[in-house]
Amino acid sequence: MTNNIKLSKRLKQTASYLPMGANFADIGSDHAYLPCYVCLKDKQAKAIAGEINDGPFQSATQTVREHGLEEVVDVRLGDGLDVLTADEVTQVVIAGMGGALIRSILQKGINKLESVERIIAQPNVDARDVREWFKNNNFIITEETIIEENGHIYEIVVGDRHSGVVYPELSQKQLLFGPLLLENKPEAFYTKWAEEYEKLNRVISQMRLAKHLNSEKLNRFETELRWMEEVLQYDGKSKQ
Ligand code: SAM
Repeated sequence: MTNNIKLSKRLKQTASYLPMGANFADIGSDHAYLPCYVCLKDKQAKAIAGEINDGPFQSATQTVREHGLEEVVDVRLGDGLDVLTADEVTQVVIAGMGGALIRSILQKGINKLESVERIIAQPNVDARDVREWFKNNNFIITEETIIEENGHIYEIVVGDRHSGVVYPELSQKQLLFGPLLLENKPEAFYTKWAEEYEKLNRVISQMRLAKHLNSEKLNRFETELRWMEEVLQYDGKSKQ
């Protein structure tokens, strides 16, 4: 039995947004590294590790067994939030998937989220989908990080449930870049958006050459390209 787990920088940062004594679900848990890491460090924490595929489910079960955590990390096979009963957890972690999939898991399992106060999402792409879901479902973005690890850039978006309080609407620009990331613009933010700028520029050039122009889509992309130019302006924090 081993009593520590070495987590990637990405998963460590994701886990750092759980409070002490968390009672949480990690959906799409693969090896169950994150819930095991948290429960080894925090003796009050309890987790459910949900997995849709049998291979990763078996790996997760094995990690839990290897660390003697069967009493505190419950590994369950199933689709998204289906593995939970109502009011079972207070926090949900969904990491390492696309934003569209995270959004659909949250939407499909919305009836399991009534007791959930915090959702920690780490979308590999399309973080905007997650932010939009938060905005439409009374979760306010309280933390956002962008990190680079092994040549990949990862965003982490934390949503906390709010009720009653009226917050200013997030603009389309804030949904794309992240309201808090836009304020802080860490180094990795510039790296990501310089790459996205190049990609979108190429897409737009191709679209302009097409026989049938999709002008609605082209306009949208051009607007986003302009936003990227704006946010990439050197403001003393980082160079493009
Ligand atoms: N969360 C881990 C991480 O961030 O390193 C694993 C990420 S892995 C790329 C994505 C995992 O999510 C896979 O093990 C996959 O089987 C699982 N998965 C995909 N869709 C799922 C769903 N609807 N419900 C539960 N698990 C899902």
